Amino acid sequence: MSPKQFKSIKGTHDILPEISWKWRQLEYFLHDFMSHYGYREIRTPVFEETELFSRSVGEDTDIVSKEMYSWTDQGGVNLTLKPEVTAPVVRSFIQHNLSGVNPNTKVYYWDALFRRDRPQKGRWRQFHQFGVESFGSAFPEQDGEVILMAYQFFKKLGLTEFTLKLNSIGYSECRNSYRTALTEYLKPYFSDLSETSQKRFQLNPLRILDTKVPHEKEILNDAPNIVNYLSVEDVTHFEEVQALLKTNNIPFELDPQMVRGLDYYTRTTFEITSNSLGAQNALCGGGRYDHLVEKLGGKPMPAVGFAAGIERILLALEHIQTGWKPLSTNVYIICLDEESRSAGFTIAEELREKGISTETDLLRRSLRSQMREANRTGVKLAVIIGEKELQSQKVQVKDLHKGEQSEIKRESLIDHIVHLNL
Ligand code: AMP
Repeated sequence: MSPKQFKSIKGTHDILPEISWKWRQLEYFLHDFMSHYGYREIRTPVFEETELFSRSVGEDTDIVSKEMYSWTDQGGVNLTLKPEVTAPVVRSFIQHNLSGVNPNTKVYYWDALFRRDRPQKGRWRQFHQFGVESFGSAFPEQDGEVILMAYQFFKKLGLTEFTLKLNSIGYSECRNSYRTALTEYLKPYFSDLSETSQKRFQLNPLRILDTKVPHEKEILNDAPNIVNYLSVEDVTHFEEVQALLKTNNIPFELDPQMVRGLDYYTRTTFEITSNSLGAQNALCGGGRYDHLVEKLGGKPMPAVGFAAGIERILLALEHIQTGWKPLSTNVYIICLDEESRSAGFTIAEELREKGISTETDLLRRSLRSQMREANRTGVKLAVIIGEKELQSQKVQVKDLHKGEQSEIKRESLIDHIVHLNL
């Protein structure tokens, strides 16, 4: 019996060479983009104490109540693979007293996340996000900068079909009175709500606003509007954020029903959705979270951030021309016998020393199939070495794009190729 073959775990995916170059391009783009805004990269561990997430994201959220990959290790510590990155970044921010170094600490990350969600197109159990967290300012400029960055990121990537939605959910006092008003409104409809919404009604009624069920959306049409429950300060703050975006020509829509799933948000929340993604259309989501640092044991510290899904960005990019190209090698060395193989091996390394990417055949294939391989890889130049070439100390250099072939002296071969500026 042949041994069992393994498959990747449901909801996880391999990033194969055919696509990994796009990931790399996107990552390059991200680092370049972030450097323009003065944000610096932060990397946190893959796992953290479970309590970090239950205390920050919220016990009643889908993430904490049913989606975390958690276990108890040999030392009896409860650990969890990170289901989101804000809490680990805040943990790190407090632990290393980053605000002591810079009162407006601005960081970004690119990371793998784990949620035991129901897999479907655009929804994975291991997926990737990039995101930013900006700490230190309670002023609308901080919201404005973070939201503007999210918008500009997608615009500069070349995406066109996306929409920025904006809301303010105020601070917890007004949220409490809104929660009461919403539950009062929904009470008569309780039996019409889905099982999920009925549960949310008990635990976290604001989350019912996230529903995608059409008849629930209809019920919600006449629900109380959170904007009417905001304090004067919340309203002023929100208006200033909007004014900043308008002045900078960032189009947005107000969506009073967008509360976002996590517990830690205060005041501004926002989301960017794409029309080209189907059901899982959220590209990015974020907002202000002024109480989280304190809740996790730090000094009171206002903060704003967002997270964007890499898999979904790459899906959206399939609909546009990015101009990105996979990196390919420039030269393929074709060797016809044992001695030339050794010479070719050395020539390949001499070219790489000069910064020219070069491949050579490791399968001892025939001239024909080496030539086919060279054409398949898309290299510009093939260098052909056989017995005759070794004797005459000359090699054949073939431009595979133009089809032209010339004979070059072995001693000047490297310089010749360097000067071609491939
Ligand atoms: P969240 O952390 O839930 O606010 O999600 C932020 C962004 O991450 C979303 O807008 C999506 O682009 C992406 N995202 C969230 N969950 C998943 C998932 N299960 N699979 C792939 N991408 C996801």
